[in-house]
Amino acid sequence: MDIVTGHIGWIEIVCGPMFSGKSEELIRRLRRAKIARKRVQVFKPTLDDRYALDEIVSHGDQRMKSEVVDNAPDILKKLDWRTQVVGIDESNFFGPELVEIASQLADTGKQVILAGLDTDYLGRPFPPMPELLCLAESITKTLAICMRCGNPAKHTQRLVESNDLIVVGAAGMYEARCRRCFEPGVPKQEVLDFARQVSPET
Ligand code: ADP
Ligand code: ZN
Repeated sequence: MDIVTGHIGWIEIVCGPMFSGKSEELIRRLRRAKIARKRVQVFKPTLDDRYALDEIVSHGDQRMKSEVVDNAPDILKKLDWRTQVVGIDESNFFGPELVEIASQLADTGKQVILAGLDTDYLGRPFPPMPELLCLAESITKTLAICMRCGNPAKHTQRLVESNDLIVVGAAGMYEARCRRCFEPGVPKQEVLDFARQVSPET
């Protein structure tokens, strides 16, 4: 509970694949909070510097000023105690520490809105999103449009070869795919690895 306002806090999550409108939905909710004259702070991780350093930018070019933080504890360091609504974009890049930080914020009366990828490029749950989803009061799953067939898409298809969990990028490196058209990177990668084993110079 917020000791100043007496308001109870909560956690709401917007999750789904890339291009599904998570950032747009986060921006929409934060704009509404500002219209309601609530004090808002927005954070994003340093890692995601694709478009602008001090703004959240959606793929449809909607923008909102944000503060950049290196890690989850820095959110608490940069928090103005009067803030009522805390928005966090790219939550999946903050690692396990975000679970405790989001809980603390909600326990102290903040409305916490988290946007992030729920699955990775292989379709696996993307930590710490599963744990956050269990703690949240409200969950919205956004879907994109499959770039192969036009059906609703819940997957982020990586189009470049890499075994790294995080390869930051947008158009050209990833696209949205439905469950039928999604091709998890592993089989192709294994074929490549096998080819390297049998003829190392390739
Ligand atoms: P996210 O934060 O989930 O990556 P954004 O909010 O940044 O998504 O962008 C959503 C916008 O991306 C859509 O409103 C649309 O203009 C654009 N877009 C591009 N590709 C797709 C796609 N395959 N499916 C849906 N929207 C797409
Ligand atoms: Zn499809």
